[in-house]
Amino acid sequence: MSADAGVTDEHGSVRGARIEIAGLVQGVGFRPWVHRLARDLCVRGWVWNDGRGVTVEAHAPQAIIEHFVRRLVDEAPSGAVIERVQVEDIPPAAAPELEIVASRSSTHAQLSVGPDRATCPDCLAELFDPADRRFEYPFTNCTTCGPRFTIVTGVPYDRPETTMVDFVMCEACRREYENPGDRRFHAQPNACDACGPKLRMPGTSRPLATATEALLAGEIVALKGLGGFHLACDATNDDAVARLRARKGRDAKPFAVMVRDFEQAKSLAWLDSASEAALRSPAAPIVLVPARGGQLSCGVAPRCSWVGLMLPYTPMHHLLLRGVDRPLVMTSGNHSDQPIEIDDDEALERLGPLADRFLVHDRPIAARADDSVVRVIAGAPTVLRRSRGYVPRPIRLPRAVPEPILGCGGLLKNTVCIAVEDQAYLSPHHGDLDELRASEVFEAGVGRLESLLGVQPRIVASDLHPDFASTRYARRRGGEHWIGVQHHHAHVASALAEHRLDAEVFGLACDGVGLGVDGTSWGGELLLASQLGFTRVATMRPLRLPGGDVAVREVWRSALSLLWDAFEGELPADLPGWEGVGPAKRRGVEQMLLRDVRCPPTHALGRYFDAVAALGLGMSEVDYEGQAPMRWEQIASRGAPAYPYAIDGGARPWTIDLRLTIRALVAELLAGREPAWIASRFHATVARAWLDVLDRAADVYGSRPVVLTGGCFANALLTSLMLTGHNRDRPMLVHRTVPPGDGGIALGQVWVAAGTAEAT
Ligand code: ZN
Ligand code: ZN
Ligand code: FE
Repeated sequence: MSADAGVTDEHGSVRGARIEIAGLVQGVGFRPWVHRLARDLCVRGWVWNDGRGVTVEAHAPQAIIEHFVRRLVDEAPSGAVIERVQVEDIPPAAAPELEIVASRSSTHAQLSVGPDRATCPDCLAELFDPADRRFEYPFTNCTTCGPRFTIVTGVPYDRPETTMVDFVMCEACRREYENPGDRRFHAQPNACDACGPKLRMPGTSRPLATATEALLAGEIVALKGLGGFHLACDATNDDAVARLRARKGRDAKPFAVMVRDFEQAKSLAWLDSASEAALRSPAAPIVLVPARGGQLSCGVAPRCSWVGLMLPYTPMHHLLLRGVDRPLVMTSGNHSDQPIEIDDDEALERLGPLADRFLVHDRPIAARADDSVVRVIAGAPTVLRRSRGYVPRPIRLPRAVPEPILGCGGLLKNTVCIAVEDQAYLSPHHGDLDELRASEVFEAGVGRLESLLGVQPRIVASDLHPDFASTRYARRRGGEHWIGVQHHHAHVASALAEHRLDAEVFGLACDGVGLGVDGTSWGGELLLASQLGFTRVATMRPLRLPGGDVAVREVWRSALSLLWDAFEGELPADLPGWEGVGPAKRRGVEQMLLRDVRCPPTHALGRYFDAVAALGLGMSEVDYEGQAPMRWEQIASRGAPAYPYAIDGGARPWTIDLRLTIRALVAELLAGREPAWIASRFHATVARAWLDVLDRAADVYGSRPVVLTGGCFANALLTSLMLTGHNRDRPMLVHRTVPPGDGGIALGQVWVAAGTAEAT
């Protein structure tokens, strides 16, 4: 460094330092806080936002600079996540008292804008204070709360790069925005009733009051929210809920419910402290919790003992919920399985037949972001759908990637991921890509992430399945730089990335389906895996699915196949039948099994759960994938003994053989044991069998950490049985911030591709 003896102050000679703070430091009140800290410590210089985060050019004596840097990291505002601090000496200069200067864009931008955050307590107090100038203003926000990712159109995060660009701040708002001591200093969406966005409802000048009255009268209201449109109705009104279900074309999938406040949530569900923390967090996700029953219409979550609750997360939601003072169904504004609507005109057109009224506003939505879904598993919140409130918070990788990499995800619950340096950015949820509009949304999602990050990855990773829209896109785009990643290897790698494990692990990946490297369907896999590759150590004995994919909906088919295998074609005579499955239909499927035609085998544990639940619950068909296993988990509890099972430890991969289990289970069923008992024993059996396999694997391959991944580990009972039953000498890790299901595999694809790219 060059020390300029000419610049000194009372503490001695002044040094210059450029402090680069990378991470989630924009839109969280970071610069005003730096300003205050610098003033307190008499640090002079400049601070600005850039494409990577926040940079401070500080000029002060060396000891003060060191103290300043330490406090920058230790006392950062609550919303900030500091990923990296780099300090570099620069020539000292005669600087002003720390000055906040205009943002600069940088060539290799890292996305440092944060996720959308629920209305903070300060803003909430203003919203309901008749003396405040923002009394009942539905777009109130500040530097610790409000829209972020869903209004951003470019980087760096500044008002001109948001959908607030056309709203010119009034005198009062501008003063707040420019005052470093104010809670709204550089709050990009800062607005008030005089200058900001406004609510609108066709045909009325009292949009909020009219919406409230309509909801109380049982009407369905389409609401423009943060990351898309919702359809709302009174969750205590059976007719309204039934009408919404019929119009959406949604048979039985549970609806999410927004409640007025935490007190109301407690009256509807059993909440432990972890669920409470998740509900109240700034991400404000939907939290799956056991329902108390009673107040909600049974149409909200038919034949389901859980309910998905969330708290209001914008001032508009708070005003509406206080107005109606009862829980509201709040479901994505779309037809079943289609992407959530974000554009006003398209929403009016597509949702017109679904909604009685439209409550909209004039702040455009830049990015689609569905509500996120969280569930407490083994005592801690686990993100099952990672979207609004979490995106675009990066996941820090174990190491930097050699160059930017795009992972295109799978087919269902699609998300994509781009890794730049040691940060991986997962996109919001795109839904299921087996549908034309979802594919458009997928490509738009890739484009948006690329433009925000300022990269166009050359290396493109995807699943191996040739028919997925995401695979076709990846192959077309990546060309010779396409890297296909086996589905369950991607699941395991996503856990490695989430836990920053740069090691070889036992990855237990259990889900509904995934293409194996041998062309068959996998889904109950123990892999000895690292970032670079895997060995298939063990799997489930294959289960044949009569009619293939039809069996995912008509679960009785898998159940019959399971029995056929366990009893070698000689089914017990007095087995209970399935409603709506006539003898002819049943004989047809028996013929398929006998002749082994159109009965593709699968190793998927998810399909075993379908089959056993269909058997135990007498369920013939499901309305959505996972419905039967979910019900099966809901009636089960801990503490039941396992049924017998076998492990074929001969050829690799070893197989878990549940034929003994099924025979014992059927005997109990025929003896009249209640399904809850059988469900409990079945869960215990699956956990016991895998723990047994893990012990053997450790004997053969040596001890390794274990990761649990795949959609089956959204099952909290199965996950906690694994965690409590395993050998304590080996760590066993589960997903927390990245979904265990297919919403997480894009991250795993990127991580595997990074290893492959480095090795070649
Ligand atoms: Zn606020
Ligand atoms: Zn204003
Ligand atoms: Fe999967």
